Amino acid sequence: MATTSVQSQLNQQVLQFLSKPKKILIDGKWVDAVSGKTFATLDPSTEEPLVQVAEGDKQDVDLAVKAARRAFENGPWRTMTASERGRAIWKLADLMEQHLEQFAELETLDNGKPISVARAADVPLAVDLFRYMAGWTTKIEGATIPISVPYTPGAKYLSYTLREPVGVVAQIIPWNFPLLMAAWKLGPALATGCTVVLKPAEQTPLSSLLLGELALEAGIPAGVLNIVTGFGETAGAALAAHPDVDKVAFTGSTEVGKLVLQAAAGNLKKVSLELGGKSPNVVFSDADIDTAVKGAASAIFFNHGQCCCAGSRLYVENNIFDQVVEGVSQQAKKIRVGAGMDPKTQMGPLVSHEQLQRVCGYMESGLTEGAKAVTGGKRAGTKGYFVEPTVLVNTNPKMKVVQEEIFGPVVTAIPFKDAEDIVSSANDTVYGLAAGIWTKDISKAHQLAAQLKAGTVWINCYNIFDAALPFGGYKQSGWGREMGKDVLELYTEVKAVCTRIG
Ligand code: ADP
Repeated sequence: MATTSVQSQLNQQVLQFLSKPKKILIDGKWVDAVSGKTFATLDPSTEEPLVQVAEGDKQDVDLAVKAARRAFENGPWRTMTASERGRAIWKLADLMEQHLEQFAELETLDNGKPISVARAADVPLAVDLFRYMAGWTTKIEGATIPISVPYTPGAKYLSYTLREPVGVVAQIIPWNFPLLMAAWKLGPALATGCTVVLKPAEQTPLSSLLLGELALEAGIPAGVLNIVTGFGETAGAALAAHPDVDKVAFTGSTEVGKLVLQAAAGNLKKVSLELGGKSPNVVFSDADIDTAVKGAASAIFFNHGQCCCAGSRLYVENNIFDQVVEGVSQQAKKIRVGAGMDPKTQMGPLVSHEQLQRVCGYMESGLTEGAKAVTGGKRAGTKGYFVEPTVLVNTNPKMKVVQEEIFGPVVTAIPFKDAEDIVSSANDTVYGLAAGIWTKDISKAHQLAAQLKAGTVWINCYNIFDAALPFGGYKQSGWGREMGKDVLELYTEVKAVCTRIG
């Protein structure tokens, strides 16, 4: 149960939701794990348990996949009209909007993020994603294709393609934006007529469970959305390897993405991966410096740096390096760090003890190797997984803090000489998720945008997301694109139909 001090701030409906047993959703019914086991999800600002959640494993995954298979092959989901499917998804979005406050509080309790951010960003973006995808249900089209066939001279054919749902989809999501990542994954799967087994991250299962309740209320038929809570090494691995899953969609670390890919090879299921990043954020001396400084700070400190696209390598043109570093450090010092439920908090705790150790380990390694912390550099306080917003300088390209994804509020600031010099530095990473460019010279910005190996390039802005804009990675940042029209390709198969008509 939630701790007393936090409880007093919570919405009545959230308290009711927390007081109910947290079960697995299979075939429209909430059930205990076959093993009967549960695990605790924690409030990262207090380190106290919030609630116990069913601990699903391979057996539960089997049952969930069976339900998803039945719902795909025999259920009404595929036979209902595209318009009906769209309305069910739209209704889910409406219900989510009505439960905005509940979702925001659950997200803050479970993940630690500031309630103001959960209210303004996480929940509205998730609602919007479902509405955007609801619109696609009626627009998933094939094409008619003129064919020539040299070895049947004179014959006439009518040929067309159909776009069909890929089938039963396993979706494994992370803890940094729990509801939004569920929406990114579920929206296109539902829009295309697939059925799903969703596995939320073990650190943050609560908002997915509320989403499951609302999906049933919205009229999404039993078995279309199944939710198995549990750990990655057990439930997640079983899903990725399951022989009756047609596709696995994963968001998380590059390391685990490679495991998912290997597990998926058994039945050659389709794989899409949205993985890590070490995104360069490039400030030229002709930028609006004030805007660039605020933008660079928010690029790394938003969501406590727990964003796969965080602007974690800040490249600044030589002649303004000190000014920008000083500006970003001042921004860092002003950030109010505290419990997410406090409306004044701007940065909450990291999600878990493991993440706290990981981020502190990176800061220590950077400092030991000769980097200097202009601000921050260590844990904040002793209770809760808080760390100081940190700006590191005096790094070199070989250091772990420059090469590896830290996934915390730690930026390395690095000077550069000119537009040529920056291309090789910015691309000197195994990742390729996002990049930022700050300049008033629009032709320079677009020339650099074309040279950066990244799935998203933000110019004079950062962390701008929209349901219509595709997002995903080059290189080891992943396979495929989330959102936009592009994501529909990940959830559909193309069937060519060819008829001799003369
Ligand atoms: P992080 O390292 O940031 O915690 P992960 O990549 O470990 O992120 O986790 C993202 C998601 O992947 C979570 O839902 C987690 O349970 C799941 N996961 C972790 N390990 C595996 C695995 N071996 N197979 C499948 N899923 C996994």
